[in-house]
Amino acid sequence: MQDCIFCKVVAGELPTKTLYEDDDVMAFADISPQAPVHALVVPKNHLGTVEDLGPDDLAVVAHMIHAAQRLARKLGVSASGYRLVINTGADATQTVPHLHMHLLGGRPLEPKLG
Ligand code: 5GP
Ligand code: ZN
Repeated sequence: MQDCIFCKVVAGELPTKTLYEDDDVMAFADISPQAPVHALVVPKNHLGTVEDLGPDDLAVVAHMIHAAQRLARKLGVSASGYRLVINTGADATQTVPHLHMHLLGGRPLEPKLG
């Protein structure tokens, strides 16, 4: 999608530290890390938010979680633990309108979610 930052990342049009990639999903380092491990897992095909998911998109969400699991192992946080977060819409402060899952870890995270 034109003018979508993460579509540009997927297309290789922005400098990015790619951490994982397969046919359907990609993971890269967050530009403003909130934890020692902070990656973003995105579908390669543009989807806006969880609200845009239809029955045909469910496999890609499972795929994103599986990619996050593999990446957590690669980055060494499987045993210590990590948090997967999908901000959705304004109240959740979603700032990039391309579906993405945050993978956060490498330090104890705040127990409260919101
Ligand atoms: P949100 O608040 O929408 O859930 O998260 C968007 C995330 O994207 C933020 O953590 C922000 O730091 C990250 N981000 C925004 N622009 C870029 C970019 O151009 N490159 C990368 N790697 N991360 C970005
Ligand atoms: Zn996009």
